[in-house]
Amino acid sequence: MADHRSPATVAVHAGRPPHEADEPLNTPITMASTFVAGGDREYGRYGNPTWQAFEEALGALEGGSALAFSSGLAAVSTVLDLVGQGMKVVAPRHAYNGTVLQLADLEARGRITTELVDVADTDAVVAACQDAALVWLESPTNPALEIADIETIATAARDAGAHVVVDNTFATPLLQKPLELGADIVVHSATKYLAGHSDVLLGAIVVADPELLGVLKGRRDLIGAVPGTFEAWLALRGMRTLHLRVERAQANAAELARRLAEHPAIGEVRYPGFGAIVSVVVAQGALAADLFTHGTALWVHATSLGGVESTLERRRRWKGEPTTIPEGLVRLSVGIEDVEDLWADLAQALDTIP
Ligand SMILES: *Cc1c(COP(=O)(O)O)cnc(C)c1O
Repeated sequence: MADHRSPATVAVHAGRPPHEADEPLNTPITMASTFVAGGDREYGRYGNPTWQAFEEALGALEGGSALAFSSGLAAVSTVLDLVGQGMKVVAPRHAYNGTVLQLADLEARGRITTELVDVADTDAVVAACQDAALVWLESPTNPALEIADIETIATAARDAGAHVVVDNTFATPLLQKPLELGADIVVHSATKYLAGHSDVLLGAIVVADPELLGVLKGRRDLIGAVPGTFEAWLALRGMRTLHLRVERAQANAAELARRLAEHPAIGEVRYPGFGAIVSVVVAQGALAADLFTHGTALWVHATSLGGVESTLERRRRWKGEPTTIPEGLVRLSVGIEDVEDLWADLAQALDTIP
């Protein structure tokens, strides 16, 4: 659905009922396992008006057509399921843990082969595309925050006959629109910024090509990783303030990245210059990083990201995290609180490191 208004306006208005007498302003939560026969929906696994409202809004923001899924990883597995038997997937060496684990699982079972790349090394990614069926990108990557040149990679992939997927969870469609840059498929964990309040699990796929949309919808119908109606409603409600949340969180993140870079306990700050995720490497390593993550009062020690509240965690506390991620790396998901309160809490927690 092409919408030429500003993304801020689209986020507020897309996916609403028509402006007609007695229509509600918000699409209601439709609880229905089945629908009266003869229409497009028929059954609750094939469609739901509340999902559809969410899908319209996300599709309008990304410049394509969206399908909602029960979680981000359900969307990821639906896309990976399209890869033909024994075909090659190019993927980031650093990426969302669940995606990395799915790729490894598919490879271990002989379903696909994978080639892991540094997405910031464009020449290496372009070379890897040549015999690939699918190129999976995250940009920025989790949690190293490397940036891929999506446009150049998408052009090379197209020439090589490979499809390009971009997990746009970190950037959101407000900061990056992969379909406009030549990607074929966008996936989202709507659990994060789109819903934005750490209270819902939801995923989505967005594509521009109607044929591909039909194929993916067919997979969703068949596999059944469909969202709950309340979850879709909550995510849509969250998306109404996406532009405000992203703007504020990004401004906070840029300021905190600047201050953290000057702190003696911090060896390295990784901030790509946009978005609201900042990764820092605590100079003294894992134990010092644990003191830091356990020493905050306002920041919540928790995994996940993209909520209104600021959270942080040391990534290597997870067994599956690649060993190329430093032991002392702490990922901060910067929220929308007052930046001085956020800084004061980080500074006092860093001061607990001897
Ligand atoms: C969280 C996340 C996912 C997985 O989404 P779920 O909703 O947790 O299943 C995928 N990709 C990225 C980048 C994420 O942050």
